[in-house]
Amino acid sequence: MEWTLISTRDKDKKEISYTDALLKGLAPDGGLYVPTEYPQVSIEELKAMEKMSYPELAFEVKKKLVGGAIPDEDLKTLLKNAYVESKFNSQNLNTVPVQEIEKDLFIQNLSLGPTAAFKDMALQSLGQEMNYELSKRNEKLIILGATSGDTGSSAEAAVKGLGKITLFMLSPKTGMSDFQKAQMGSLSGGNIFNISVNGRFDDCQDLVKKLKQDSEFSKLGAVNSINWGRISSQIPYFFSGYLQVIKNIGDEIDFVVPTGNFGNILSGYIAKKMGLPIRKLIIATNENNVLDNLIKTGIYEITPAQITSSPSMDISKASNYERLLFDIVDRNAETVIKYMGKFKETGKVDFKDFGVDFSIFRQNGFYSDSSTHQDRINTIKQLYKETGKIIDPHSADALTVAKRYKTNDGIPMICMETALPVKFEEIIKEALGFAPEREERFIGIEKNINPNNFYEISNNEDELKEYIRKNI
Ligand SMILES: *Cc1c(COP(=O)(O)O)cnc(C)c1O
Repeated sequence: MEWTLISTRDKDKKEISYTDALLKGLAPDGGLYVPTEYPQVSIEELKAMEKMSYPELAFEVKKKLVGGAIPDEDLKTLLKNAYVESKFNSQNLNTVPVQEIEKDLFIQNLSLGPTAAFKDMALQSLGQEMNYELSKRNEKLIILGATSGDTGSSAEAAVKGLGKITLFMLSPKTGMSDFQKAQMGSLSGGNIFNISVNGRFDDCQDLVKKLKQDSEFSKLGAVNSINWGRISSQIPYFFSGYLQVIKNIGDEIDFVVPTGNFGNILSGYIAKKMGLPIRKLIIATNENNVLDNLIKTGIYEITPAQITSSPSMDISKASNYERLLFDIVDRNAETVIKYMGKFKETGKVDFKDFGVDFSIFRQNGFYSDSSTHQDRINTIKQLYKETGKIIDPHSADALTVAKRYKTNDGIPMICMETALPVKFEEIIKEALGFAPEREERFIGIEKNINPNNFYEISNNEDELKEYIRKNI
C-alpha cells in the first residue's frame, strides 16, 4: 500500500508515495496531493489511543496516512524526535493539552512548540521526515516558502541546521508583528534565507507558485500547508483533543478553528473522514471573510486582503480549499481544473455554475462565521475576566465564533488555540491594559531585529530567481 496520493488536477489519477509528495509539495500540474482514499480508524483503535502519549498517538494516526512509505519503526522515531519535551513546553508528552473554560467549551493549546505557533505541530515533524527521506535518497532540497508571519519562524526553527535542506522564506514587508520579525530574523543564516517582499502575503504565495511552474525551479520543495506532510501532521491533534474531552468514545464533538489558508480545518475534515466522530467543523475568520462567504453562499470570491489584528489569517484566497473541493465534485479533476481556472481568471466562482448545491458544506459538517477587531478585544477581555486566561487574537476569533454557535445540547466544543498571546502583545495591551507575561525564552527578543537579516525585493519573480541562484 505504498502508492497513496493523487493530485487534485490529474485526470489520470496517477498515484505517488507519501515521501514523494513530501518532497514535491505542489503537484507538477498545479494541483494538491490528497489520499486516494481516507484510511479508517475504528472505535477499538480510538480506545487504544486514549492512554497514549502524543507522539505515540501521532504515530498511530500518521502511519495510516504514510502507507508504508516510511518504515513504522523509523516513523515512530521521527515523531518522537519531533515532539520531544525539550522543544514542546509540555508535560508528560501531552503536547496539545485541553482546558475547559466553561461547561462543554474547551480550548486546545496547539502552540507550545519552539515558536509558540500551532504550525510547529506540523513543521517539526515535516522537517524531520524530509531530512530523513533526503538522507535515504542521498539528495538535497531547496525549499521556497511564503509566510504571513507564523510559518516563517516555525519552518525555520524546524529545518535550521538540517544538512539536506536550504530554506528561502518570503514574507510581506508589512503586517508582521515585531515579535514575529525578530523570531524570523534571529534564525537567518546558515541554511536559512529570509526575503522581504514589497507586497502582501498573497503576493508572496503567488511568487512561490510562479517559480514552481518554471522548469528551472520546478523541483523546489514547500513548507506551506500545500505540502501534504503538513496537513497529515495536523490530523492527530484532532484525535488527541477528542480523546481528552469526550465522555464515551463514539460521542460527537464540535471543533472551531481559526482559519486562513484552510489547512488546519481541512485536517479536521480528514480526521472526520477517517472516522473521528466530529459533528461540526466551524470555520472562524477575521475581517478577511472569503471563506465565511463561501460556506454561507457557495460563492468563492477573492477580496483584497486587509491587514488585521489577527494577521496570520489575512488571506484573500485559501489554497487548501481545493482539497475539499476535489471531494465535493466527486473527485473529478476536470471539474477542479475548470473551477480553479474560472477563479483564477475572474476572481469569482459560484457553485451554481457547476450544478453543485452549496448545502454540501453543511452535509460535510462545515459552518462558519467571521469576527472583527472589536470582537477579538471583547473576547480577550471577557475570557480574562472569567478565567484569568489570556489568548492570542487568532484564538480570540475562534472563541468569538464558538460562543455564537454554542448551545446547551451537551455536545462538547473545542476551540483551537493557534498561537501564544506573547506573539501579539499590541492587541493584548489594547484589550487588557498590560502585556502578557513572557517566558524566559522570549524576553527581549525584539532586540534581535536587524534589517540585514532580510533581503528586500519588490513583488517580482526575476529578482527572486536571481537571489536564489546567487545563494545556492
Ligand atoms: C497559520 C495560522 C492560522 C491559520 O491556519 P490555516 O491552516 O492557514 O487555516 C491561524 N492562526 C495562527 C496563529 C496561524 O499562525
